[in-house]
Amino acid sequence: MKKEPMNLSEIKGMVEGLNKMARNLWWTWNYEAQEIFESLSPRTWQNQFHNAVAVLRELSDKNGYELYVRLLDVDFAQKVKRVLKNFNDYMSRADTWAAANAPHLIENPVAYFSAEFGFHESLPIAAGGLGMLAGDHTKSASDLGLGFIGITLFYRDGYFQQAINRDNWQVETYPVLNPRNLAMEPVLKPDGDPLVGQVNIMGAPVFFRVWMTRVGRSTLYLMDCDVEQNPGNLRQVTARVYGGDTTTRIMQEMVLGIGGVRLLRMLGIEPSIFHMNEGHSAFLVLELIREQIAMGKKYEEGLNYAIAHSTFTTHTPVEAGHDRFNESLMKYALGDYVTSLKVPFAKIMELGKVHPEDKDELFCMTVLALKGSRNANGVSELHGQVSRKMWQKLYPGKKEEEVPIGHITNGVHLMGWMKDVVCRFYHNKLGDNWQELINEPETWKQFLDEDFVSDAEIWTLRYKLRRELIEFARRRLLAQNGVNRSTFIELDSLLDPNALTIGFARRFATYKRAVLILDRFDEIVKLVRNSSRPVQFIFAGKAHPRDDEGKKYIQNIIHQSKHSDLAGRLVFLENYDVHIARQMVSGCDIWLNNPRRPLEASGTSGQKTSVNGCLNMSIMDGWWREGYDGTNGFAIGPDSNPDNVEEQDRVDSANLFRVLTEEVVPEFFDRGPNGLPKLWINRIRHNFATLPGRFNTTRMVREYVEKYYR
Ligand SMILES: *Cc1c(COP(=O)(O)O)cnc(C)c1O
Repeated sequence: MKKEPMNLSEIKGMVEGLNKMARNLWWTWNYEAQEIFESLSPRTWQNQFHNAVAVLRELSDKNGYELYVRLLDVDFAQKVKRVLKNFNDYMSRADTWAAANAPHLIENPVAYFSAEFGFHESLPIAAGGLGMLAGDHTKSASDLGLGFIGITLFYRDGYFQQAINRDNWQVETYPVLNPRNLAMEPVLKPDGDPLVGQVNIMGAPVFFRVWMTRVGRSTLYLMDCDVEQNPGNLRQVTARVYGGDTTTRIMQEMVLGIGGVRLLRMLGIEPSIFHMNEGHSAFLVLELIREQIAMGKKYEEGLNYAIAHSTFTTHTPVEAGHDRFNESLMKYALGDYVTSLKVPFAKIMELGKVHPEDKDELFCMTVLALKGSRNANGVSELHGQVSRKMWQKLYPGKKEEEVPIGHITNGVHLMGWMKDVVCRFYHNKLGDNWQELINEPETWKQFLDEDFVSDAEIWTLRYKLRRELIEFARRRLLAQNGVNRSTFIELDSLLDPNALTIGFARRFATYKRAVLILDRFDEIVKLVRNSSRPVQFIFAGKAHPRDDEGKKYIQNIIHQSKHSDLAGRLVFLENYDVHIARQMVSGCDIWLNNPRRPLEASGTSGQKTSVNGCLNMSIMDGWWREGYDGTNGFAIGPDSNPDNVEEQDRVDSANLFRVLTEEVVPEFFDRGPNGLPKLWINRIRHNFATLPGRFNTTRMVREYVEKYYR
């Protein structure tokens, strides 16, 4: 039968629709939308970090004639039409969870401040888990129809790209991001000129312009100091994520906290609550006080107003994770801003101190956030406890359990961590509205039932995903090592598609102990060299540019991967980002997490694995203490830890090896008469039944609404 192409006006409508869809990060969690962009220009897609805007620009030569011709293809056009309809339905849906449960937040939204947001590899402005969490929070707020505005900085140099030199040492490069090539638009005034805001820092005005990124129904605003009005050095203030020294840091935090509130006012947005995701944005408390004083209120009234409108999430018990500034830097940076607060400078310093009378105590952003908010929370049950203990000194007379810091355990935005193979699997199992069902615990109970999903189906899914990861890793290793024919052949025999594949990928902060596995080197060699029960390791991760200890860990891992008996069974993938994360959390069989307890406040990478049937093997820290039930993965050690660090490292590495050799490896290779590992698959069933339904950001954002936003 002859198929009629769409007419010109229909095609015009589709081109408009595609351009609109490309500029909304919704496509980053919709695999059919991604397929459309990928098929338009596979090479641009691959080379430009899977960026839909870049693909459309590539096809827009000659007034978009190529795109027009491509849409004459009836089958393709129909797919575009269907995906655009899904997008429009998503954007305009009225019967959302928030419409029923938090209607007041639609008029007066949540303003969520975070120094980093991680959404997708094409927008690299996150350094790690904190940013990924902010990104997933934003996506789920959109899914729930919540009134939600994100506030952050636009870092033109982004977070660095990692390369490894001949000494296996990490080197950082900073390719400049071009907003015109990203899912991002300038925010303009009615007269068409860019909207510009201002914060006085060190007695001089610092100007910023504003970009907007749409994340489904949520909106993110990004402030950018790279504007003509600023002298050269000030244009660099927002160049890099956590870049520069403490002076740059305090300037960034003033733009984020103070500038962010001013930006919302310029846009006419009246938030019902200001959510500080970590202490970096806590200067917003000062700005809320200043506004009240400017309206004739007293300082104390201003402070009470700020407290009544703010909530704070703390993310780490690691000391370096809490910004502190000395008094002279505070005085210098705040400059005449203090005058507008109409109280002595000492009064401002008090807000950041545990002991206000202590002259030498530094000003701590976490303390400011705690004193300036009505609620505070940690990000797992244990982290809540640890934070109460850590900050008890701020609440004299209160017992540890009375310290007003609660907890909401982190989650992940499940859709964003699933590849197309997995999406099709769930679509097939759960039907057309599978995307909503996956956030509900009841949905997942069915995966215990062999009539609902067979062992063979689970095992083939696992094989497909492992194969994809191994081929991905071979491609990346080839690119890392440079192409010549012999490396090509060599690399294609690297990694074994039948081996138990263990993944470790996260920031190389030393408390995460990436090298713990190397403690018992001879034993690990024996393990990987066992040809009937082979095991292999895939590592990835960046160290902070100034963290030489973390870089040494990377160097050690890469060295072993090239020059020891682990070669070929241990690989390091360079330049860890969201894309590598997505490949690894789906293709690995085991996700290894061995932080020094209790420093991993929650951890989220292990939560990303659950929908993919990759099992966690982790220290009982952060979220895993709550997730592990004895049947759904593996625990390294008990729900406690020695106080002494050396003792802890010793005990943990012993436990790690015991679990690996006595439980994990035997179970994985225990194949029944049909060739399937029954016990292992059973563990995957329990993983499905207990983890993704709980550790997702839909549950998490609902909890924030119920406990802290209302
Ligand atoms: C999930 C994620 C993280 C956080 O990993 P943790 O194990 O929770 O520290 C960091 N970076 C990227 C790119 C991620 O996707």
